[in-house]
Amino acid sequence: MEFKKSQELYNKGLENLVGAVNSPVRAFASVGGNPLFIKKAKGSKIIDVDGNSYIDLVLSYGPMILGHRHRKVEKAIRKALKNGYSFGASTKGEIKLAKIVCDAFPGMDKVRFVNSGTEAVLSGIRLARAFTGKDKIIKFAGCYHGHQDALLVAAGSGLATLSLPGSKGVPEGAVKNTLIANYNDLESVKAHFEAHDDIAGVILEPIAGNMGVVTPQDDFLKELKEYVNSKGALLIIDEVMTGFRSKFGGAQEVLGVEADITCLGKVIGGGFPVGAYGARNEIMEMVAPLGGMYQAGTLSGNPIAMAAGISTLTELKKQNPYEKFNEIAQIIEVFLLESAKKHGVEITVNRFGSMINPFFTNKKVTNFEDAQTSDTKKYATFFWEMTKNGVFLPPSQFEAWFLSSALTEKDIQEIANAIDKSMEAVSK
Ligand code: PLP
Repeated sequence: MEFKKSQELYNKGLENLVGAVNSPVRAFASVGGNPLFIKKAKGSKIIDVDGNSYIDLVLSYGPMILGHRHRKVEKAIRKALKNGYSFGASTKGEIKLAKIVCDAFPGMDKVRFVNSGTEAVLSGIRLARAFTGKDKIIKFAGCYHGHQDALLVAAGSGLATLSLPGSKGVPEGAVKNTLIANYNDLESVKAHFEAHDDIAGVILEPIAGNMGVVTPQDDFLKELKEYVNSKGALLIIDEVMTGFRSKFGGAQEVLGVEADITCLGKVIGGGFPVGAYGARNEIMEMVAPLGGMYQAGTLSGNPIAMAAGISTLTELKKQNPYEKFNEIAQIIEVFLLESAKKHGVEITVNRFGSMINPFFTNKKVTNFEDAQTSDTKKYATFFWEMTKNGVFLPPSQFEAWFLSSALTEKDIQEIANAIDKSMEAVSK
């Protein structure tokens, strides 16, 4: 397999782009080598500029749940394009997507569209502060909520990939109201509430996907919600990754918990830049123009992005692929575990719905600390061998692999073959 053209573009890209990328995980820093440059994608496959074809388990870090260029989504986008790209005024599409989203999340009477997951979360945090009149926010170590200053501490994912504790350029003042708790550890949350009486809310990924996949134990979320509300604070569930992916009603539907504020992104834009935050009426009425919490966006509710979102969610609802996702993830888990055993490699596999990944450790992984026991050098070997065997994985131990409904039986068999060869390479 040749990567010559990717290599050439990478060298060219270094001139005017930082690290030749526009998002750090794409730089392959933790797996070594140079990033792949992608030319196109269709269905379950993605093709690089050298013409190498891969089964895509990155899916743009989640959004492409139907696979690439789904016929109906593409048709809707083309139709919307004919009417213009952006108006700075309201359109019917926004109302339609809002209805789909609010119907899917019972705790949401109203929603506001923004342009990214980062924006969704930073607005959700502002809203929790506006509603409660309090300042502090608790986040969990290893959960990533986008790159806003206040939450860029112990933030898993890209920072963990680059072995950075936090980001430079974030002033102390910006994080002075951020408290860190341990995932799956309610006591660590209680300790903060006992020490502070000005906590506005607790934010978490309901199924963490930015320290690799880490699932909530037993009734962690239910107990968390009850406790947080009993203290007059709000539970902000960041479903940017899990919304419409874990289930149509997100992780909240699977886990039987209702957020006070829900943040969304990724799948709701079908591959276009869309984020959203929503809540029940009494909370959303704080937002301008109804209330005093200001939040705005020139391109928010962009008509092309709305068309992509509406068509993606409509098709997703029709396909209802969630059972199938569970089955495929289970099959991949078995492949991973059996192959690891055969080649004498120690791994732990975590999965939830269509999110899965192996950790190269013999430890059970229930939080960020456990996740960090994974041998990232082994992941790097595994990653490159999977690449050479035609499977595109995230170039980081601390990212989830995603499944799309475009995966075929043949793809799954090819993934199995690639896993076996890659596990053998890790064992050497
Ligand atoms: N929240 C979660 C849970 C995420 O996984 C991400 C991105 O990966 C974000 C927020 C930030 O979203 P975006 O990259 O669209 O700004």
